[in-house]
Amino acid sequence: MTSPNAPETVTVLREVRPWGGERVDLHVADGRIVAVTPHDAAAPAPSGPGVVDGRGLLALPGLVNAHAHVDKSWWGRPWVSYGGEATTQGRIAHERAHRDELGIPGVDVTLAVLREFVRHGTTAIRTHVDVDLGLGLRGIEVVREALAALGGAVHAEIVAFPQDGVLRRPGVLDLLDAAAAAGAEHVGGLDPASIDRDPVGQLDGLFAIAERRGVGIDVHLHDGGDLGAFQVELMIDRTLRAGLQGKVNVAHGFAVGDVPSSRQADLVAAMGEAGITMTTVAPIGAAPLPVHALRAAGVAVGLGTDGIRDLWSPYGTGDLLALTTQLARLSRFRHDEELVTAARIASSDAARFVGRDVHDLVVGAPADVVLVDAENVPDAVVRAPRRALVVAGGRVVARDGDVLV
Ligand SMILES: [Zn+2]
Repeated sequence: MTSPNAPETVTVLREVRPWGGERVDLHVADGRIVAVTPHDAAAPAPSGPGVVDGRGLLALPGLVNAHAHVDKSWWGRPWVSYGGEATTQGRIAHERAHRDELGIPGVDVTLAVLREFVRHGTTAIRTHVDVDLGLGLRGIEVVREALAALGGAVHAEIVAFPQDGVLRRPGVLDLLDAAAAAGAEHVGGLDPASIDRDPVGQLDGLFAIAERRGVGIDVHLHDGGDLGAFQVELMIDRTLRAGLQGKVNVAHGFAVGDVPSSRQADLVAAMGEAGITMTTVAPIGAAPLPVHALRAAGVAVGLGTDGIRDLWSPYGTGDLLALTTQLARLSRFRHDEELVTAARIASSDAARFVGRDVHDLVVGAPADVVLVDAENVPDAVVRAPRRALVVAGGRVVARDGDVLV
């Protein structure tokens, strides 16, 4: 899987079409885009170290996986037949019973997942990492070690994730606090009502840590309908009270997609006013999120793979562009501008989910670029062609399907 070739440092990425526009040369220094100049086809082609030919391909910013679980996959291992019950609780129990025998969490399996992300053009992630009474903070250490081994090919923010519940497991809240104190950018939560059966208690605990440590909050909320909407409302109240606008995310949030339209409109407007964001994994079978209404209300929407090939589900490939196709289809996007919106959700518009001010093909942004052979962005979103070249932090990290880190 790993090429013996060292990743090449880019100084000029020649003749690419950012977002399908005119041909330009991207100039790179210290891992950032420092100039964007029109490509002059008549000028003699420069050569030498760091000059990379983009061959006129379509360029997108590096893809941003805003909801991953890189600590718990068995990617690269022999097939594991799914053996859990089809409920959240059943999946939690199945995972806890079998993760040790699969070496989860482990640096090698985490590296396998991260490399698969890189192969498909993902250069930045927000990953949830299990924190529980059995593992403590070991999973976070494993993920940090794997990220370091890639030498910056994947920029990451970490959510300390209480997969086994918070208040129902005394001691977990202290672990989340310790994770935040040790540098995790966010504390996670899990179905405060249906898992802990104490939505006010779990959310109060998470918000207290966020206020104390200055970290964000990212809550898995599978509960649908009124129960889920009620918990979103609790998060809105607490976000406004604590002044945490822009730092609170609802992951999945099926309720936002499945409550009646009048309630949905009120909920979406209130989320926008509170600066709450949402991440989706574009699940098949759930009511799709009202992506246009959310964005119009100022609710940023991020896209993520969720866990891939893990003890929760055998599905997922780590290809965020293919998942963008799925998001667009489930959202019934047909117009070109909608397909471009889908691509922006999966890249430039997701900067905030990975702690970046800017993540685009512009001066000052990190030099994270994906090249694909596509006519335009809608064509790229619909076909999800192979990633011809992936540049992360100014280095070529994948080429024609070969991962170079
Ligand atoms: Zn998740």
